[in-house]
Amino acid sequence: SIRAPATKKTTTLTVAIKCRPLTEKERLRSRDIVRVKEDKEVLVLDPDLTKDYLERIQNRTKEKKYSFDHAFGPDCTNLDVYRRSICSIIAGVVQGLNATIFAYGSTGSGKTYTMVGTQGDPGLMVLSLHTVFDFIKKDKSTDDFEVTCSYLEVYNEVIYDLLEKSSGHLELREDPEQGIVVAGLRCIKVHSADKILELLNLGNSRRKIESTEANATSSRSHAVLEITVKRKQRNKYRNQVIKGKLALVDLAGSERASETHSGGQKLRDGANINRSLLALANCINALGKQQKKGLAYVPYRNSKLTRILKDGLSGNSQTVMIATISPADNQYHHTINTLKYADRAK
Ligand code: ADP
Ligand code: MG
Repeated sequence: SIRAPATKKTTTLTVAIKCRPLTEKERLRSRDIVRVKEDKEVLVLDPDLTKDYLERIQNRTKEKKYSFDHAFGPDCTNLDVYRRSICSIIAGVVQGLNATIFAYGSTGSGKTYTMVGTQGDPGLMVLSLHTVFDFIKKDKSTDDFEVTCSYLEVYNEVIYDLLEKSSGHLELREDPEQGIVVAGLRCIKVHSADKILELLNLGNSRRKIESTEANATSSRSHAVLEITVKRKQRNKYRNQVIKGKLALVDLAGSERASETHSGGQKLRDGANINRSLLALANCINALGKQQKKGLAYVPYRNSKLTRILKDGLSGNSQTVMIATISPADNQYHHTINTLKYADRAK
């Protein structure tokens, strides 16, 4: 039998902001308009205010101010983000709880960097898997553990396997025992976190890129890494299996979703509207309300992505949203949209 201990009834939502540094190119022509204060507050300056004006007023009273559970500035590493907002969740996953972590933000704001990262600054997907194995190593019980990973993409409401060289379309099925499953999705057994970065980079090279935006990679594709930890408890009478799932999601760029919210004139066809992103945004809003006012209906059924993530967005689960922003003045509107959205969610 597969079961999860029912210790919590509602989903906790944590909202964190990560502001990346200016890139080398940006440093030549962009002004930094974002400040992070006391690990909680994000202050943004309207770039329409001229430099002269700024010099005159000397103070920063014109900044827009937002506050969150956590806020990470450009000097923070992925490990800093991980330690303060994610690490404590992993213990729960090893005990059979579900969790979802996702990166939300416009294209180029640092979602993939935060989730996957680099060799020198490994991202949340890599760090989470490391901690899973640390917990297993330290576990004093006689339980057996099995850790598996899958990595999929949702693009234009079609699911593809990022662990396969040329994946066909995959379908969602309702399994009476396991709930919603992606039929035929490759699930690999992993024994350490060693090769995961290579695997993620290979998977990411398979994500769909639109030809018109070659320098804005994968802006419409969602990538979901799911880490499943099965703990097999042995006792005299039966073998019991406890299953915890951690989903880490590198979302499609949020710029189109906010365009839709603000009139939608730029959207020409159905493919441009990212149904999964909007559905997830609605689920997150509902979770935020649930946290503040008690139970609320969370509309999972409206997209592929939210159906895939259902277990990690409901019941005994924890959700962390990392909203990523760029500090550059030419990204002002995207930054404000992301902060407003994250502010409403918390
Ligand atoms: P997104 O996935 O949101 O489109 P990326 O993660 O690809 O954005 O980041 C855009 C650019 O910014 C990349 O060149 C990336 O290396 C760089 N970048 C993002 N976050 C950081 C960071 N914390 N430190 C250094 N460079 C970063
Ligand atoms: Mg990306």
